[in-house]
Amino acid sequence: MKPKIAILATGGTIAGVIDDAITTTGYKAGALNIEVLLDAVPQIKEFATIVGYQISNIDSSNMSNEIQLNLAKKINKLLTKDEIDAVVVTHGTDTMEETAYFLNLTIKSDKPVILTGAMRPSTAMSADGSKNLYNAVALAINEKSKNKGVMIVMNDRILSARAAVKTHTLNLDAFSSPNFGDLGYILDGKVYFYNTIEKLHTKNTPFDIDHLEDLPKVDILYTYSNDGSGVAAKALFENGTQALVIAGSGSGNIHENQKNILKELMKKNLIVAISSRIQVGEVILSKEDEDFGFICAQNLNPQKARILLMLALTKTKNSKIIQNFFQTY
Ligand code: ASP
Repeated sequence: MKPKIAILATGGTIAGVIDDAITTTGYKAGALNIEVLLDAVPQIKEFATIVGYQISNIDSSNMSNEIQLNLAKKINKLLTKDEIDAVVVTHGTDTMEETAYFLNLTIKSDKPVILTGAMRPSTAMSADGSKNLYNAVALAINEKSKNKGVMIVMNDRILSARAAVKTHTLNLDAFSSPNFGDLGYILDGKVYFYNTIEKLHTKNTPFDIDHLEDLPKVDILYTYSNDGSGVAAKALFENGTQALVIAGSGSGNIHENQKNILKELMKKNLIVAISSRIQVGEVILSKEDEDFGFICAQNLNPQKARILLMLALTKTKNSKIIQNFFQTY
């Protein structure tokens, strides 16, 4: 019997359309529905039984907590069924790494969950969506894909949700794992794994979103020279932000004036995690900052640190416990 795969469509360029084959910008993302996406890749039906669901049809720059929560709940429900062997999610590439990491922390199954998308709209000459979707299903049915956490497949690369970063605005080869490398690659439909991921994921996290309707408000502040007014930090805090991720300079540094303002807000219970605007490497905190309660995002980029921090806040406000989450997941 063929494995049964649920494909959940959320929109993005893979479902994008424009009326000429040469143009690969300015198209409408999230224009085609799941049936059209599946009809474009009839080959997958040769090795899997497919059931499709439309979750949303958006440009992923408009991704929301609400859609991410609905998606995770739907996947958790599908994967409890014996007859569903794996899930593939089609997603815009802009925020794919955030949704992938969110699912990596909230899916309670060791069955494969794979995200894929496209850099060129479906109407483009040399569109990449069909091959990416084919590869995603090939990975989803592979025995070795179980218990590896959520994965992304783009341009023949297999990337872990934790490591994957969109590192090019337009190229087909837009995703990489700049810190520790990809998990493997797919060639002519065959899956080759080379690396494993040690950070805990899926069933081995404490995050349970099935009864949540929303997530704590966490925002990101970017560091730059002359960044000392603190207007944005104060405004966000007054507007209900519970925690901030700082995209610090270098190994997680912040202008001292900005840091003093953050410290004042932390005394009023704002939680602050420090990441970096640099793509590769670790953030290092001084003993003094650690003792004050700043949380080190280690090598998680700001947008992924925000995802973990939102989920962490559903469990605790204790900065030491949250720091431990950053070490573990
Ligand atoms: N803006 C598009 C999106 O994220 C880009 C893409 O899918 O490649 O939905």
